[in-house]
This record gives sequence, structure tokens and C-alpha cells, in this order.
Amino acid sequence: MNGNLFARLAARFPADASTVAIETPEGRAITYADLLAASGRMAAVLRAEGVVPGDRVMVQVEKSPEAVFLYLACLQVGAIYLPLNTAYTASELAYFIADAEPRVLVCDPGAEAALRPLAERVGALPLTLDAGGRGGLTTAALAKAPDTAVAARAGADVAAILYTSGTTGRSKGAMLTGDNLWSNALTLSEAWGFSGADVLLHALPIYHTHGLFVALNLTLMNGGRVLFLPKFDAELILELMPRATVLMGVPTFYTRLLASPRLTRPRARAMRLFISGSAPLLAQTHVEFEARTGQRILERYGMTETGMNTSNPLEGDRRAGTVGPALPGVELRLGDPAASGYRPAEGVGVLEVRGPNVFAGYWRMPEKTAAEKRADGFFITGDLATISEDGYVTIVGRARDLVISGGLNVYPKEVEEAIDALPEVIESAVIGVPHPDLGEAVVAVVATRGDPGDVTGALRGRLAAFKLPRHVALVEDLPRNAMGKVQKAALRERFAGLFA
Ligand code: ATP
Ligand code: MG
Repeated sequence: MNGNLFARLAARFPADASTVAIETPEGRAITYADLLAASGRMAAVLRAEGVVPGDRVMVQVEKSPEAVFLYLACLQVGAIYLPLNTAYTASELAYFIADAEPRVLVCDPGAEAALRPLAERVGALPLTLDAGGRGGLTTAALAKAPDTAVAARAGADVAAILYTSGTTGRSKGAMLTGDNLWSNALTLSEAWGFSGADVLLHALPIYHTHGLFVALNLTLMNGGRVLFLPKFDAELILELMPRATVLMGVPTFYTRLLASPRLTRPRARAMRLFISGSAPLLAQTHVEFEARTGQRILERYGMTETGMNTSNPLEGDRRAGTVGPALPGVELRLGDPAASGYRPAEGVGVLEVRGPNVFAGYWRMPEKTAAEKRADGFFITGDLATISEDGYVTIVGRARDLVISGGLNVYPKEVEEAIDALPEVIESAVIGVPHPDLGEAVVAVVATRGDPGDVTGALRGRLAAFKLPRHVALVEDLPRNAMGKVQKAALRERFAGLFA
């Protein structure tokens, strides 16, 4: 059988091709027949431009149904699909283009002038696609007949390269095979009970594993329908909610939905599943969401390199503050934090994962791959975690974010939770900042709605003295990226000189 991911997905498209696959708020309804025809036309364009299996097709475009056609077309011709965050600037793209050496670069018409010389330097053909799905690529596709040939690919061939979010350092290109993506999609589909009756509210970006592989692959492989929003819009989501069954979101989606009085139990009645991931969901959000809607958010944990690793159960105990047990086929273990230079604390270790979902390696970074993937196949996630006796995983933070102050470990999450419980505090980020005496000092960056008073004073007695912030900075908002991740590296840089 062809291990091409496109072949595997399309084999499960509904028998009735007039079923709607993608619906937009402007009223576009794209059936599975349309989807196959449109991706076939784009496949014809790629082939005419000489794209062969293994070539990289780099894509930095706004979210549109045409961008989904392009994703499928790349898989169909056996090219390696390589989407990029739309926030990256032309100077950042210079790195990605030189690193990935794509055969084709699809970009927004507005970026073409800046990117064309960079593309040409590596012999890549530039094509355009705008937020409305128009551009040189679409024009060329409309002039072609759909190409139905599906390139033969092995399951172990790389189907996509996704760059990590760059939260802890420079983004790395994770090579994901067809088997990686397919096994994870099958596992999640089963675990979350997906079917052709599902209508997924899609408000995530599609350059990241969450919105691309988890949300799209799962819905399409089950013949379901995607309500395709260009971006997160709480009021539009609430408007569409009575017609949907599943929402996949990052934690900020849920806090913003809670901020609207229109989020009510009747409005959420048709929904069978609210899923959260990509960043930690506050236990408080979980509790408030249930009080308002009667539904318990299902939190799961994954990463670019592995897809999804753990999930709270569909049936059974969804524990707030945990990311649930390992998914079927995924093995977990806690590595010794001491081996990574940290002093072990009660039950906390660096989470390692092994399974068919674990990526093939970092693109053109053999040393990095060797440093993070062990000989026995376990991948070192870099996340600090505990695992309960019955297998539930709690992410305690990232190993890189751990603060070592005066030789003692401070887990930022513990301090953040204590600060978040204070009056007038919205949320907080605790970081380590170079300190002449302590090595690192604990600094709390706190987003407030009013005057929180003496934050450190309020924590005294609740936390050991070495965990107390040496400095508290009040801010309006914490810096976050599109996936809702707090940009701690940026904060560390900002406060680096505090004790110098
Ligand atoms: P980089 O690897 O470039 O520093 P990144 O790790 O943020 O960036 P992603 O692969 O997008 O890039 O994110 C994976 C990380 O997101 C995980 O390692 C984990 O730290 C975090 N994460 C994902 N889901 C959850 C969750 N449910 N709870 C807590 N953290 C989560
Ligand atoms: Mg990472």
C-alpha cells in the first residue's frame, strides 16, 4: 500500500463526495469533491514546475481554504510540506530559506518583492497566495485540469517539516514522516471518538501542528466538516458554536470565551468536546469553564517533534491541571533531571517519549538530533513533569525555565500559581535573572487589573524564602505568541540587567 499520507487520508474521505469538508464564515461550502479537484489542480502546478518527491515546498501564507488545498497538493506529489509562521519577517525568512533550500516558495503577494531574491538565491520558484486565496498559484491552478496521480511514498519518508515555536531558542525544523502523522491521527481519532458527524470549529493557525495535523487531519480523515475561521474571534466562535461539535484551542481561546457573557450552557449544548493544548491551561480556567458551560475541557500535551503524547480521557476522569495519561502506543518515562544539570526534586523529571509519533530528527542538525534523541528511541522533551501512580502527567514547566537560585531549584509554576491567586492579579510569569550572589534571582512579571499591593509580602509564609521574588515587575499583558505561549526568553532578555 502507498504510505503517502495523502493516499491514507483520502482513502477515508466520505463515499458521498458532495459532503461538505470546509465551510467559511462568508458562506463558501467546499465539498470533498471540490477539495480533491482543487488540490489536484495545485498538484498539477507543482508537477509542471518540476517538483519531485522529497522537494521542499515552503509556504508562508495567511489562512485560507486554498492554503489547505496546497497542503494536500504537496502531500499528493510527495513534496515535503514546510509551513512557516506568518509572523516571521523577511529577514527571519532568509534563515529558513537558506536552511531548507525549498524548490518552491509560496508567499503573500505583499512579501514577494522582498522574498524573491532570497528564493532565487537557492533556486526556488516564488509563487503567491493571498489571504483571500487569490494569487499567482491560484491563477495557475485554475488553468490546469486536476492531476489525480498520487506519488508513491514510504511511510518512513518525510512528509512535512515543521519548525518548532522558538520558545526556548532558535526554531528547529522537525522532520515528520508519513507514519508519524498517520499514527498520531489514528490514535487521536480513536481516543477522541471522531466521526463524520463532527463539525470542528477551526480558529487556530495552520502553520503549527495543532491547527494543521491535529485539527485538519482528524476531521478530514473522518469525513467531518471544518468551520474554517481565518483567526480566533470569540464572538464569531460563539455565533457558530450551536452548529459545531468540537473546538480545539489554545488556553487563551478559553479565557477569552469566558470573558464573553454569551458563553452559556445552552450555547454550548451541541458541543461534545472542548480540547486545549499547546500551552498550560490554568486549573482555574478549567473550573470556570465547567461552571459556565457544564463541560470539562479536555487537556492534552504534545509538541512539534512528536505530535500528541498524552491526553485526558474522552470517557472518565479529566483532571484539571494535568495533561492526562500517555496515549496508546506512546511510552513515557522521567529522565533524571540531575543528568541535565538539575538537582532532582520529589518526583520531578524531564519527560521522555517514545512511539511511532516521534519525529525522524531535526533537519540538517544531526548533533541536535543526537543530543535530544537517545539511542533507545526516547526523545527528551525538555519538559519537567511528574507522573501519578495511575499514569496522569502534570507538566511542571520547562527544564530551561527552571530557576536555580543560590543552588536551590525554584519551579516557576509553583510561584506563578501562588501569585495568580492574589487579588487583582490576572496572571504571572516567573523567570530567573542573572544575580551576582545567587547565580539566578527569582523575578516575577505580573499582569494586573488593579493594584496588587506587596506581592512578595503576600507570598511570605506561603512559599519558602528562597522561592520569593527578589523583584516584581507589574505589566499590562504578558508577551505571548500566536499559540498562547508566554515568551519567557524575551522576558529574560528584558530583565537581564536588573541585578548587574
Ligand atoms: P521550541 O522547541 O522552539 O523552544 P516550543 O517547544 O514552544 O518551541 P512547540 O513544539 O510548538 O514549540 O511546543 C511544544 C511545547 O509546548 C511542549 O514542549 C510544552 O512545553 C508546551 N505544551 C504543549 N501542550 C502543553 C500543555 N497542555 N501544557 C503545558 N505545556 C504544553
Ligand atoms: Mg520545544
